Amino acid sequence: MAVYFAAKALLPQGWANNVTVSVSAQGMITAVESDTLAADNSIHINGFLVPGMPNLHSHAFQRAMAGLTEVVGDPADSFWTWRDLMYRLVDKITPQQLETIATYLYIEMLKAGYTSVAEFHYLHHDRGGKGYANPAELALRISQAAKSASIGLTLLPVLYSYAGFGAQPASAGQGRFINDTDSYLALYDALSSELAGEPMQRTGLCFHSLRAVTLEQMQRVQEAFPQPQPVHIHIAEQQKEVADCLAWSGLRPVEWLYRHMPVDAQWCLIHATHLTADETRQIAASGAVAGLCLTTEANLGDGIFPGAEYLSQQGNWGIGSDSHISVSVSEDLRWFEYGQRLNHRRRNLLHLPAQPYIGNVLYQGALQGGRMALGQPVGQIAAGARADMLVLDGRDPFLATADDNERLNRWIFACAANPIKDVMTGGRWVIEDGQHQLDEKTTRDFITVMQQLRA
Ligand code: ZN
Repeated sequence: MAVYFAAKALLPQGWANNVTVSVSAQGMITAVESDTLAADNSIHINGFLVPGMPNLHSHAFQRAMAGLTEVVGDPADSFWTWRDLMYRLVDKITPQQLETIATYLYIEMLKAGYTSVAEFHYLHHDRGGKGYANPAELALRISQAAKSASIGLTLLPVLYSYAGFGAQPASAGQGRFINDTDSYLALYDALSSELAGEPMQRTGLCFHSLRAVTLEQMQRVQEAFPQPQPVHIHIAEQQKEVADCLAWSGLRPVEWLYRHMPVDAQWCLIHATHLTADETRQIAASGAVAGLCLTTEANLGDGIFPGAEYLSQQGNWGIGSDSHISVSVSEDLRWFEYGQRLNHRRRNLLHLPAQPYIGNVLYQGALQGGRMALGQPVGQIAAGARADMLVLDGRDPFLATADDNERLNRWIFACAANPIKDVMTGGRWVIEDGQHQLDEKTTRDFITVMQQLRA
């Protein structure tokens, strides 16, 4: 048991003063009280205490190619030409390389403010597309990487069977992703048992996209695992995807999904980018989480989610770093608001009736949606939550001179240097003064892997 005392802490209802946070030996918050006096045994937090952010969408291996595709290849460069390059990387990665990349990335995430991550994991087979002796080989590498870094993990093994709507056969570049329903169910079962002993890890169901699975497959998977758990899917990232779905079914992807599946608050719709007003309302009303990956969506030229409209309907949402072109909580949150400003040519769009400060809306909204999407007790400093917390540097000039309402705005919109000093996950300090215990080794290993993959 440890007791922490923070002069300022961000609680679900907002900033509070003189907060005492009790954390059990198991790393869970057992009590939070504000307007307290520091007890003799309490450990003083030197800075502003805020909840760590859940990252609701990650493809860890893609970190290795970040920044390598910002060069014109084809005059019509798009998401689809980027995907060809990504498939070339996929073709080379070994299990050890995957673990190295993921470990390095997860440490970067901790330093950037993410204390848990949902890994949308679709790399299942060997380089020839054949199963490993242990079908969960690569998924377990992700689990091990999260354990080494000490980040919380919701592991989402992905069902990926087809190349396009209407069960089109997979292409050569997709060999490492493909499972049929039976092999997927076996993989999910095995992984759920493996992770049962990990206090900061769990599994969730995952369908790659409506391009990659059939209705019958989704129904069978949900029937096989009816217990409450997260369900993730890529939904409407590209206009071509919407057009292909319309041509196939007469419905847009979100329309099709809601027509056929019982979508509720356990679902996380990744890249719900291209929506009609009706689809926007439907997602908000269902309680599903819109999984926004702002810097990746900008990098890939996807489009802009109708955020202002969605927030006016109290829709749930959270953020993911997805391809990891950027790994920064503040940058992804900032770009949610900036995308809306560029789209509407106005300022301050993501506000709520009772909350005019954009940073407060952004940070608290992403915490809540992230907690839902990960299906873990994270994203708040409250009794019953895991002790996943960040300490923001009280000496940062922008933070030091902000009042309570301005503090998150200053961090998200103004701080040039990363003010995150210390990071705790599961009750343990894993980043201290910006450093992780494994920094030296993982940096060396990551450089080696990137050199190997470029060779
Ligand atoms: Zn994705």
